[in-house]
Amino acid sequence: MLPEFELCCDLFEGYGKKLIDEQYQKFNTYAEFLVEYNNKVNLTAITDPEQILIKHFLDSCLLLKHLEIAENSAIIDVGTGAGFPSVPLKIIRPDLKITLLDSLDKRITFLEQLCDKLEIEAEFIHGRAEDIGKKPEYREKFDVASARAVANMSVLSELCLPFVRVGGYFAAMKGPGEDVLSSSSAVEKLGGGEIFVVDYTLEGDGRRIAAVKKISQTSTRYPRNWSQIKKKPL
Ligand code: SAM
Repeated sequence: MLPEFELCCDLFEGYGKKLIDEQYQKFNTYAEFLVEYNNKVNLTAITDPEQILIKHFLDSCLLLKHLEIAENSAIIDVGTGAGFPSVPLKIIRPDLKITLLDSLDKRITFLEQLCDKLEIEAEFIHGRAEDIGKKPEYREKFDVASARAVANMSVLSELCLPFVRVGGYFAAMKGPGEDVLSSSSAVEKLGGGEIFVVDYTLEGDGRRIAAVKKISQTSTRYPRNWSQIKKKPL
């Protein structure tokens, strides 16, 4: 279903990522199951195998090119949808411990079945980030919180930074030129440090990663409830 192994290897290598046969087989299974399941539950607008490879799998993996993630790190993927970026990351970095969080139960059910097929371990949470981030068992427990295409930087910071331990990172995967620096004061209120921005291209399309190191604990005032977050972004 995906382009041949050699072509996929060349593509990944062009971005500094090595792909072995076992990982390729898992990506193939992932692509097939994604397209099949997408007929009954809306998971993605991208259904062409080559585009899935580039715009979902490779794009997700490029987080590792731009953010150094230590061995055995625990990552929570906030608004993971069909598993991006965390499931591709787990395929190429099996040492990572991934927690998949989404507010849509149907997507979590897909992810449980997918991870079973791929024989990868993951924790699944059905819920809203602003509720789950208040729970002691998840608060400031992760080395990294990732989010791709979920909300603007200020809202995302409030949803993600409460999960991150002091010294860990929040990484937002964004579209080209998306404004992130105007959220500096929101990030600061939530215990984050400077916002680092990396711009790069993926097969000619612009991409941006904004990464923040957590430098102090998040006040228990945050995250607020959804209506306050929406009405009065920090
Ligand atoms: N990260 C995936 C990707 O890059 O393809 C999915 C992006 S999709 C546009 C946004 C996802 O975030 C949806 O699956 C939605 O259900 C989830 N979401 C939105 N707000 C959320 C919240 N407050 N808590 C948890 N999940 C949320």
